[in-house]
Amino acid sequence: MLPGNKSARGDMKHKPKKPFVPDERQETVRKNIISVLEGQPLSAREISGIVKIPEKAAYDHLQHIQKTVSRRGLRLIVAPSECKKCGFVFEKREKLRKPGKCPECRNEAITDPVFSIKSI
Ligand SMILES: [Zn+2]
Repeated sequence: MLPGNKSARGDMKHKPKKPFVPDERQETVRKNIISVLEGQPLSAREISGIVKIPEKAAYDHLQHIQKTVSRRGLRLIVAPSECKKCGFVFEKREKLRKPGKCPECRNEAITDPVFSIKSI
């Protein structure tokens, strides 16, 4: 291990406008999400209801949590979406957000991915 091995890369790719929310509050929201997910697996919609944030914001937080939670010895587990018609499982999907359509049968009834947090 190298001493002073910092990863201080600015991975801000496409965020021209930010919502006016102080970072401290964002951290609190993330901590809340982590603690509810340690207790039970939930979809982004359910998280948004519990933590009182929009569903879209829940996905943004989950993405951040997925990248950073390993520092605390935890891991975000994603149970993938499934097509309700043919049972296709979106296993290789990199995005957390629910897909719009099944690539197999074009059906739009897709289950929500379900998130949980486990220790590594
Ligand atoms: Zn399908």
